[in-house]
Amino acid sequence: MNCFREKIAIVTGGASGIGRSLCESLGELGAVVVVTDINGVGAEKVATAIVGAGGKAESFAVDVSNSQQVQQLVDDIVKRQGRLDYMFNNAGIDIGGELRDLSLDQIRRVIDINLWGIIYGTHAAYRVMVKQGFGHIINTASMVGLIPLPMELAYVTAKHAVVGLSTSLRVEAAALGVRVSVVCPDFIKSDFYLSSKHVNIDEKKLIDEIPGFVYISPKSCARTMLRGTAHNKGIITVGLFVKLLWGIYRLSPRLFMLGQRLYAARLRRLRLEGNS
Ligand code: NAD
Repeated sequence: MNCFREKIAIVTGGASGIGRSLCESLGELGAVVVVTDINGVGAEKVATAIVGAGGKAESFAVDVSNSQQVQQLVDDIVKRQGRLDYMFNNAGIDIGGELRDLSLDQIRRVIDINLWGIIYGTHAAYRVMVKQGFGHIINTASMVGLIPLPMELAYVTAKHAVVGLSTSLRVEAAALGVRVSVVCPDFIKSDFYLSSKHVNIDEKKLIDEIPGFVYISPKSCARTMLRGTAHNKGIITVGLFVKLLWGIYRLSPRLFMLGQRLYAARLRRLRLEGNS
């Protein structure tokens, strides 16, 4: 993966989980890593560790749901480094639960970060990359950007939109020299499940529903993402579950939906108030 050596790479949500592993791997591969996160202290720790290990990194506190902050970040990097090679729009959150239990503010928050955050990062990086005539934007969606999932409406809406945005822009951008990929991981062992909120659901039991063996490490996820990026894959899947479920969904949507109905009925039993 020599393509990352000496390349300028911005990562959002770089303080934890997948983003952190991405930053560390990019550092090991010789990239100049720009670690960004709403958690500025966390981002700084990651950058300091990369530099301590002999790599090149700097950090910024950036809230991806704030378009000005994202634009300022990209402008600053391009002004100082002269170019931008990779933009990893990775930051994300989850507020799950049945639609009837979610407030509009909760839905808006998920969309602001998981969709608008990606749009801001893509828009800012794309304009620079088109001028350069090169560059690669890598947006993190999810397995649930490819398949439906009940009780996660805000998250699923954002992730489906990220897949649509990325696969469409990939075509639009190709003749202008810019590459676009979207990453669809299944279950990654990060703090994501601890920081996620699930409204009116027994969260402990919900997490217990996911068997431990299905989790992939963030390090392994980051490696798959970087390999997919190096090979310029359009959709980078991470894990066997996403391949299996996406395959069944394409082969037989009816069969898939039957499974989803059973899953929804099972999750509904975890509702704290009102099980019907
Ligand atoms: P994580 O919670 O470990 O890390 C997410 C990071 O994003 C955190 O450092 C957090 O501070 C940061 N962040 C949150 N809001 C932000 C904001 N407004 N601006 C900037 N940074 C912000 O989670 P993760 O598992 O590493 O998730 C990374 C991405 O992968 C997310 O987009 C998530 O939806 C996606 N994903 C995760 C899984 C999984 O199983 N963990 C599966 C599929 C997709």
